Amino acid sequence: MNGPFRLAIVGGGTAGWMAANLLAQRWRDRSVAITLIEAPEIGTIGVGEGSTPSLKRFFEVVGIAEAEWMAACDATYKVNIRFSGWSPASGIADYSHPFLTQVDVHTEDAFTRNCGNRRLGLDVPTRPDDFFLGGALALQRKAPVAPANFPFRMEYGYHFDSGLLGQFLRDQAVARGVTHLSRHVEAVERAEGGEIAALRTREGDRIEADFFIDCSGFAGLLMQRTLEVPFHSFKSNLFNDAAVVVPTEVPADLPVETGATALSAGWAWSIPLTSRVGNGYVYSSDFLSADEAEAELRSHLGLTEGEAPVRHLSFRVGQLQRHWDRNCVAIGLAQGFIEPLEATALHLVLNTVEQFINRFEQGGFTAQHRDAFNADISDRIERVRDYIVAHYKLNTRSDSDYWRANRENDALSGNLLEILDTWFRRADLAALLERQKGLSHFGSASWHCLLSGYGAYPELATEQRSDTDFYTDRQIGAFLQGCALNFETQSAVLARRQFAAASTLSL
Ligand SMILES: Cc1cc2nc3c(=O)[nH]c(=O)nc-3n(C[C@H](O)[C@H](O)[C@H](O)COP(=O)(O)OP(=O)(O)OC[C@H]3O[C@@H](n4cnc5c(N)ncnc54)[C@H](O)[C@@H]3O)c2cc1C
Repeated sequence: MNGPFRLAIVGGGTAGWMAANLLAQRWRDRSVAITLIEAPEIGTIGVGEGSTPSLKRFFEVVGIAEAEWMAACDATYKVNIRFSGWSPASGIADYSHPFLTQVDVHTEDAFTRNCGNRRLGLDVPTRPDDFFLGGALALQRKAPVAPANFPFRMEYGYHFDSGLLGQFLRDQAVARGVTHLSRHVEAVERAEGGEIAALRTREGDRIEADFFIDCSGFAGLLMQRTLEVPFHSFKSNLFNDAAVVVPTEVPADLPVETGATALSAGWAWSIPLTSRVGNGYVYSSDFLSADEAEAELRSHLGLTEGEAPVRHLSFRVGQLQRHWDRNCVAIGLAQGFIEPLEATALHLVLNTVEQFINRFEQGGFTAQHRDAFNADISDRIERVRDYIVAHYKLNTRSDSDYWRANRENDALSGNLLEILDTWFRRADLAALLERQKGLSHFGSASWHCLLSGYGAYPELATEQRSDTDFYTDRQIGAFLQGCALNFETQSAVLARRQFAAASTLSL
């Protein structure tokens, strides 16, 4: 081939810019020319402000310091998601799903063992918050930033302003040599064999490339609209398709967890940033109108009508039948979306880009590697879907048709049925998850947190054995409290950084 390998990315949302940075970094020593085309008048989805620990890995891979990007994106730390009101009939008001850190290796076994005993009807503590460092840090609003002499690697996610993150990543990508074009793609030319040959823009350009990346969001411009790759909907067991979003003021003491509170026909997120708290109500339009959702969100937040500007949006859940077709791969909302619970979308973006790079390096355009990539990505998405679906299936709310319909819904995958069956039969869930083929982001600890957090247990046995081998929350609590002494509050960590940045500027 003469000249560099030409890659064209359509879309400048978080997915497009993450992909551009990763590709520019990984292929920095190859002859590759990357162009990103975005239509500023269309804009980005403008939500998606919570991450898993994979965003930490993304910044490590592209070599950008945490303090630098966090300050630019109004970002805060995230150690947990706190679920409130999902299982009131079990008597559990809320529970947390933490990101496991290296130190949790010492307590996970105790948690799993206690869950096993509780499944036998024994009265032992099983509240996830009491067994993992994230629970202790969240309670004290401490940032998961360990001092150098803390001998365990910390894992955590972030909250961030998605608009600012996009701009930050754009500047980084351009500095790495990515060409940025503000153009509206109006038509797509196909070659004789069916591959994409070029993009035609409203401004009159013709942009040729050897490979195309569809990051055009829900527009699905290349994969769906041009290559006509079918879309497989998840609506059968994920009912939510709309959201209403409103910001509120920042509290003095910034939380280090995302709030996920069940409401009448969905759930509300609460994402604390340094500049605002992002709130949104994700709901099903089959059960609630947009006006009703807005009124319910305002009432949940204690806002009067007109007090803060709201934004309504709709989305579709599902995934493409193929994520890589011919000379095009889809990444981000263009490839599919599960729903925002557990904030896995950017995690899947990172997975998709990394797997694409690996497969492309191994096999170029060969069908064998393309098929393996497609199977891998579909499976990752389906496994995340199982975990999200379980949140709805297991709910014990009775206040609306929405929650009853979710509980009664039997459209569950074989893998999910096996997981629930194993749990309720009191068999070894960790072993099953090991055996289940697949690349789930959610391991045994996550499933134990979910099932415990919902109180998915039998009645307590009438006779309690006195010789049960279990861990008390006091034993584990003392250990975790000791670990937490090494950490400072998030507010203190961010204020110190701000002070350091201001002092550098004034030098
Ligand atoms: C309610 C909701 C909450 C969410 N919460 C989370 C969360 O907490 N965590 C998480 O990880 N994810 C979340 N997500 C998902 C997250 O928002 C997205 O995965 C992320 O923002 C990436 O979006 P994107 O880049 O794929 O698409 P978009 O941001 O929509 O970007 C699409 C891009 O394509 C461009 N484009 C479209 N058509 C054309 C055209 N014809 N010509 C040129 N350019 C074009 C647009 O200009 C834009 O730049 C949420 C999503 C929703 C709907």
